[in-house]
Amino acid sequence: MNKTGFLLVVSGPSGAGKGTICNALLKKYPDEYALSISATSREPRGNEQDGVEYFFKTIEEFEEMIAADLLLEHARYVDNYYGTPRKWVEEKLEEGINVILEIDYQGGFQVSSKIPNVLKIFIMPPDLEELKNRLVLRGTETEEQIIMRLKKAEEEIKIAEQYDYTIINVDVEKSVEILHNIVSYEKNKLMGEI
Ligand code: 5GP
Repeated sequence: MNKTGFLLVVSGPSGAGKGTICNALLKKYPDEYALSISATSREPRGNEQDGVEYFFKTIEEFEEMIAADLLLEHARYVDNYYGTPRKWVEEKLEEGINVILEIDYQGGFQVSSKIPNVLKIFIMPPDLEELKNRLVLRGTETEEQIIMRLKKAEEEIKIAEQYDYTIINVDVEKSVEILHNIVSYEKNKLMGEI
């Protein structure tokens, strides 16, 4: 029997609600999913803590991790590095747990070629104006950073077409159920039950 979990690549524009959806999914089905914690060279935002939201690294430390092949994938986003520590993810998948990677599309395409059973899910905000409001309301970025993130968001929306599924996040609870149903469906399909 195939005990391997799915690697869920969850991407979407910054502020689209993917963090909220993933956290709610983990809370609802704690035995079935685990969230990978990425490493990044960006500065902590607000109350973010090392080892909770991210492993915060200097650029030099991050480049050493790349050189030592400790990352499953990595990408530059705006001005910083982001990457997925390899070992933890591989161990969880072997235990049959679905691992969520909340990463951008550059990383998503890298893992697809390295790991079997990858499901790529794109989370879309209902519209871009709404996205702008959410970023402004969050109040953690400067105006210049908001403009850069919105530009990046427009690019990302074009990428959505290359994902396995796109969820339009109108309601978090519904998005969580859609995501869980997608995983159940794909798991059954893999095991030959559909
Ligand atoms: P933020 O700075 O808002 O936390 O994240 C910025 C972007 O980096 C988001 O689109 C997020 O999905 C992406 N990201 C976070 N961790 C990783 C990672 O490990 N690898 C890649 N490729 N992207 C990541």
